[in-house]
Amino acid sequence: MDDVFSAAANRLTIDLQALADNWRQMKARSGRARAAAVLKADAYGIGIEAAAETLYRAGARDFFVANAEEGVDLRPLVPEGRIYVLAGLWPGIEPLFFENGLVPVINSEEQLAFFMAALSEHGDHPCVLHVDTGMNRLGLSMEEAMALASDPARPASFSPMLVMSHLACADDPAHPLNARQLAAFREVSTAFEGVEASLANSAGVHLGPDYHFDLTRPGIATYGGEAVNGMANPMTPVVTAEARIIQVRSVAEGGSASYGATAAFARDSRIAIASVGYADGYHRSVSGSGVALRQAAPSGAYGFLHGRRIPHVGRVTMDLSLFDVTDLPENAVRAGDYIELFGRNIALDDVARAGGTIGYELLTSLGHRYDRAYREADEEV
Ligand SMILES: *Cc1c(COP(=O)(O)O)cnc(C)c1O
Repeated sequence: MDDVFSAAANRLTIDLQALADNWRQMKARSGRARAAAVLKADAYGIGIEAAAETLYRAGARDFFVANAEEGVDLRPLVPEGRIYVLAGLWPGIEPLFFENGLVPVINSEEQLAFFMAALSEHGDHPCVLHVDTGMNRLGLSMEEAMALASDPARPASFSPMLVMSHLACADDPAHPLNARQLAAFREVSTAFEGVEASLANSAGVHLGPDYHFDLTRPGIATYGGEAVNGMANPMTPVVTAEARIIQVRSVAEGGSASYGATAAFARDSRIAIASVGYADGYHRSVSGSGVALRQAAPSGAYGFLHGRRIPHVGRVTMDLSLFDVTDLPENAVRAGDYIELFGRNIALDDVARAGGTIGYELLTSLGHRYDRAYREADEEV
């Protein structure tokens, strides 16, 4: 037992071969379009450095990040890559764009005016024009974009390298907003004749060739997550998260466990206490509307240990979680064992659903208390 607790409590194993394979699969599913890599939020939590190098080696040359700081971190990792910054630019940070060759995504008329002013000071620089086709998040309105396209001074005065929009409901292929957004985007991309166009995220790639245009932007699918509701996930898991068991204890029939005593035991039981809690990304989410909390798995998440699915019991606490290991042979579970939280045996999205959230949020919430091990990808075949 001497070295059992010498290492950090929990570990993430990140399979870069799976990451590369998933990206190539999304590229193949994108047909004639190029596929970008989406590396925002530290590459969906897995680590931007390893992800960028792997996807660059796999052939990606278009990269999306959320903000300029992420773009600056990414620049040395993808020397020939085009780096698009989704938040765009505003006063004070424009040198980051010009000095690091970052391409701002222009999301509003305000950003457009500021960018044009910055050009006259810094010289010519590429940009992406984002048009809102129905999500009402970022982008010029259709009216603003169409007016810009038909400005007689264009394209000499303003020539983006890409026109993009983002789908609100691509994870639900039957949702009528998909077709409405497609029709609007066709209109705007036609108006910006000769400019490349990009509409599809991971789920959008699955909507078919009409949605692919010139460049697709698969994120979650590359990281092994579910893109389309109700569709069997064709991707390979990239992240395996494991927590270390600190103690195994017995609870007699009729006993209870954890805060609130909500886990009641109808038989003599053994529970394993794992060193993972909401501070490691098992949180509760609060939204104005639209989260699937009321469809969540009533019995909560499962872990995987010694070849079996093991139910989580009681409340997740800040640093600790309880799993019912009564069905494993006595003495099979020892302090120091690792229980898989999600990965090869327990689907990321099953755990997310159990928590009323999505795989994206689980991945990007993991935090800093895990040891990370990267399984290298083979060289490009
Ligand atoms: C995050 C993001 C993507 C990637 O979306 P996934 O659903 O993860 O594939 C694509 N485009 C934009 C604008 C995004 O913000």
